[in-house]
Amino acid sequence: MPENVVIVGASAAGLATAEALRNKGYEGALTLVGKEDRLPYDRPPLSKQVLSGAWEPERVQLRDEATVGKLGARLLLGRTAVGLDTAARRVTLDGDELLGYDALVVATGVSPRRLAGDDLAGVHVVHDLDDAVALRAELLGGPRVVVVGAGFLGSEVTAVVRGMDLRVTLVDPLPVPMRRQFGERVGALVGQMHEEHGAALRLGQGVSRFTRSGGRVTGVELSDGSVVPADVVVVAVGSAPATSWLTGSGLELEDGVRCDAHCLAAPGVWAAGDVASWHNPHFNRRMRVEHRLNATEQALTVAENVLGGQKAYAPVPYFWSDQYDIKMQAFGIFPEGAETTVLHGSPDNRKFVLGYSDGGKVVGVLGWNSHRELRKLRQLVVDSGPRPGETLVAAGRQS
Ligand SMILES: Cc1cc2nc3c(=O)[nH]c(=O)nc-3n(C[C@H](O)[C@H](O)[C@H](O)COP(=O)(O)OP(=O)(O)OC[C@H]3O[C@@H](n4cnc5c(N)ncnc54)[C@H](O)[C@@H]3O)c2cc1C
Repeated sequence: MPENVVIVGASAAGLATAEALRNKGYEGALTLVGKEDRLPYDRPPLSKQVLSGAWEPERVQLRDEATVGKLGARLLLGRTAVGLDTAARRVTLDGDELLGYDALVVATGVSPRRLAGDDLAGVHVVHDLDDAVALRAELLGGPRVVVVGAGFLGSEVTAVVRGMDLRVTLVDPLPVPMRRQFGERVGALVGQMHEEHGAALRLGQGVSRFTRSGGRVTGVELSDGSVVPADVVVVAVGSAPATSWLTGSGLELEDGVRCDAHCLAAPGVWAAGDVASWHNPHFNRRMRVEHRLNATEQALTVAENVLGGQKAYAPVPYFWSDQYDIKMQAFGIFPEGAETTVLHGSPDNRKFVLGYSDGGKVVGVLGWNSHRELRKLRQLVVDSGPRPGETLVAAGRQS
């Protein structure tokens, strides 16, 4: 049993790990290190309620100060981990402070990918609370907006911007929005939805450069040479696991912190949330999930295993996206090339559930404004997993 647990990353996964450790009876030393100088908060509302102004920014805070205080943890907020020595079991913080541990949980999430030249005034990303507040302030000035990247985030931002009745153009090199997430069929519907709500689409086009005047962005030049004028540009081109501080630590860093099925990365080191790449026995494949519910669920398993448990983490991932009056919800995985079948309703009526099959099994279900039916059909994905007694865990425990 550890007596000194350090968690690096004080957001959804880090906080949930700390709370789960205490709930499971852990009474030893607990330290939570977080780069941002504020109490843990929730990110999904940043591109929805905070950006649209429906929520005051403070509402995203996950726990009040008194509740966090009851954890009995040493909170090191506004502090950045810059190195890890797994042999000596020590984390190095900025300012060269060393933090020893018996058990370390890495929960540093992801960082937004950037584009060359995107440090101009008027160019934004939406990753943390300050980003969302700064972008909203600019949107209130009524600018022409270009959103670069038509994944979850870019699509959500486009919907909010149209909701404010501003001119917006969504740009992506792929032919339909959200193709990487849900494939061609759903992507085409997302594209139609944006057009019906008055967003302009420039798909099949990459960004060559930003045009500028006096240090401020004036437009986005696309790969066909055309320029879309813009007063504000939102770059939403995906994220990369926040692992640079782990370089040279001996941990395997391959699309995140590489863990086994128990979320163990090395003796005494676990990872949870967006940063963790682990072997999911349910699908018998390695994955890394950038979704909110996974951060909490994985943290629960990690806390159990830190305290000596032997639990494999085998979830059916769940996620959602809100755009205009559409709620998309999904369970499972959505591999490229999966066969899609309408399981309920009809895409023409904009109310349906689509099943995604891979190797003859339904591995994902996506609901479009179909919450109740989706919950029932989720069972198909649950049933696609290994049967009791069937062993699919390829990666063994490392200690
Ligand atoms: C704008 C936005 C909208 C989203 N919308 C949805 C949605 O609709 N549905 C959904 O399912 N998911 C959504 N997500 C994803 C969801 O928010 C994440 O899956 C979740 O926040 C992951 O939690 P985490 O704790 O693993 O990582 P994060 O929330 O990224 O937290 C990691 C923390 O670690 C800190 N950190 C990083 N490096 C260091 C270091 N070296 N030292 C100390 N601290 C460090 C960071 O500052 C950060 O606070 C959204 C994300 C964003 C950004």
